[in-house]
Amino acid sequence: MQIDIITIFPDFFRGPLDFGIVRKAREAGLLKIEIRDLRAFTRDRHRTVDDRPFGGGEGMVLKPEPLFESVEALKLAPREERAAAKQSVVLLSAQGRRFDQALAVELVNLDRLVLICGRYEGVDERVGTHLADREISIGDYVLSGGELGAAVIVDTVTRLIPGAVGNEASTRQESFGPDVSGSNWSDKSVRPKRAGPTRADSTCASGGLLDYPHYTRPAEFRGMKVPDVLLSGNHEDIKRWRRRSALEKTVRNRPDLLEQAELSKQDKELLAEIVGGES
Ligand code: SAH
Repeated sequence: MQIDIITIFPDFFRGPLDFGIVRKAREAGLLKIEIRDLRAFTRDRHRTVDDRPFGGGEGMVLKPEPLFESVEALKLAPREERAAAKQSVVLLSAQGRRFDQALAVELVNLDRLVLICGRYEGVDERVGTHLADREISIGDYVLSGGELGAAVIVDTVTRLIPGAVGNEASTRQESFGPDVSGSNWSDKSVRPKRAGPTRADSTCASGGLLDYPHYTRPAEFRGMKVPDVLLSGNHEDIKRWRRRSALEKTVRNRPDLLEQAELSKQDKELLAEIVGGES
């Protein structure tokens, strides 16, 4: 997969894409990232990328010409054939479709992803309507530029590239091991292999719930103890505890997720216990 990021601040990406899983994926050749300086596509002495808004109002707007030329230089398929060519040009925008794990799963199926970072008051609308094939927002707030959004998307998508997350062997063991198969308790490590939009990753793998709590050594730290059940070695009890904890956390922090979650009969019983216990 190749990701091109078009920005007026190429140096912004020194750092965010140079660590951890993204770095390893790049080094392993699973992912190629190219940062394109928008100003390289200007023709005037001042390398102007912005201009005043028609109709008046505050601030400046990114001009269409350098943005169109920067994308055209990438020699992608024509806009109407891009989906078939497994390519997509994304405009980062607070007005876009909200980014989530399901959308990340969609994007990881692409061979080529172009991320256009807006700045100032935004981007000439013709970029959204005639150059990009989609607009994506990373959340309901206004950033000062699309760069952080692009970094969020790259990070999230990279984790989904097969082979990018290090201990895949151990997670596969968990997913398909005898303890899990045939069990009613969904396991967190069921990860899509460039597959459909559900069961996306750690947090959402358990049929759309939040992840369960994780603990490591020491078993007691400053008087704070790890739940006994995790030290018990009883895998069924551990699974049940994890599922219950995931449900509890979801009820507490993200009750909206429960509407779409895949809940088994046991889940519904646990949920009744949890909600009953609260009232
Ligand atoms: N006037 C615009 C905000 C412009 S902010 C509005 O009210 O919608 C400047 C740039 O930051 C945008 O062009 C976009 O590329 C980026 N940006 C701002 N908020 C964002 C968000 N929530 N998600 C993704 N990109 C965002």
